[in-house]
Amino acid sequence: MSDRREVLIIGSGPAGLTAAIYTARANLSPLVIEGEPSSTTDQPGGQLMLTTEVENFPGWPEGIMGPELMGRCREQAARFGAEFLTAKVTRVDFSSSPKKVWVGETLYEADAVIVSTGAQSLMLGLEAESRLIGHGLSTCATCDGFFFRGQDIGVVGGGDSALEEALFLTKFASSVTIIHRRDSLRASKVMQDRARANEKIRFMWNTQVTDLVGDTKLESVKLKSLETGEETTAQFTGLFVAIGHRPNTDLFKGVLDMEDNGYLKTVPGRSLTNVEGVFACGDVQDHTYRQAITAAGSGCMAAIDCERWLEAQHG
Ligand code: NAP
Repeated sequence: MSDRREVLIIGSGPAGLTAAIYTARANLSPLVIEGEPSSTTDQPGGQLMLTTEVENFPGWPEGIMGPELMGRCREQAARFGAEFLTAKVTRVDFSSSPKKVWVGETLYEADAVIVSTGAQSLMLGLEAESRLIGHGLSTCATCDGFFFRGQDIGVVGGGDSALEEALFLTKFASSVTIIHRRDSLRASKVMQDRARANEKIRFMWNTQVTDLVGDTKLESVKLKSLETGEETTAQFTGLFVAIGHRPNTDLFKGVLDMEDNGYLKTVPGRSLTNVEGVFACGDVQDHTYRQAITAAGSGCMAAIDCERWLEAQHG
């Protein structure tokens, strides 16, 4: 026995939930397979579940907590008839119609599928990260930089992201220290020149973050020199981890076209993938903006593309 619907949405961050709101209001009764908690950086609701205050989502002048924002979007989708399944998709087959999606042994079939499985920030793998994320530890300077006004903060990484985050953070912080595990940066020359020319930015070379100190809020950061083995503590009250992102696309390998970096390919300016009737939105296909509002916007695009495609199918 399988469950068959017109629209199935995989993923429940801002993109998936916006797609759910739109397709539900179009009477398409979407089923959202929302994921299930499997680690601190992987749970239903996506990356906003790891955020504390969100101050840049339009409509919330006083700010809103990330999990509350996602809870409200979910409620809004449910109000119009979206159904939710708290589970992880384990396999897909989009080679014929209806499209097939499995959760374990259970098969779900749909005329159209919207993929919004998001991306994850790579983390350092320290135990304290799950406790302090959103409490001094962050992976998004655009989202959280404002909260670090007048503080001394660190940024981990040596690529373009780390330098871009560091440069942005100099608008708020007293000082920004780039902590890099080697003695040369991977970032482009132009970004390196900009960072080196900024008097608020310092570099800590050949250094590894070994622990984060603080129970409810980051108080300091433990470091180790990879040259001498010397261990030190830096009084950073903010730490931004910028060592890269990984799109959640393992499920779609060999099924949907991807960029070399694993992000799904969509038709420029649209949500269409290479498979008819499969649409992608949010961070799973966006390695440039990565904001809740851009993800939500692309979720709306996917819903409209999907609705029009279904209409055309039904003649
Ligand atoms: P990236 O280029 O892969 O750099 C990741 C950095 O993090 C590297 O310096 C790496 O060190 C370090 N790192 C990785 N794992 C680590 C760990 N466990 N502990 C400590 N350090 C670790 O990633 P990215 O900076 O996010 O950039 C991704 C892509 O987007 C790149 O192609 C980049 O050019 C592009 N991008 C461009 C811009 C821009 O042009 N404005 C902005 C952002 C990103 P090693 O160097 O030792 O490997």
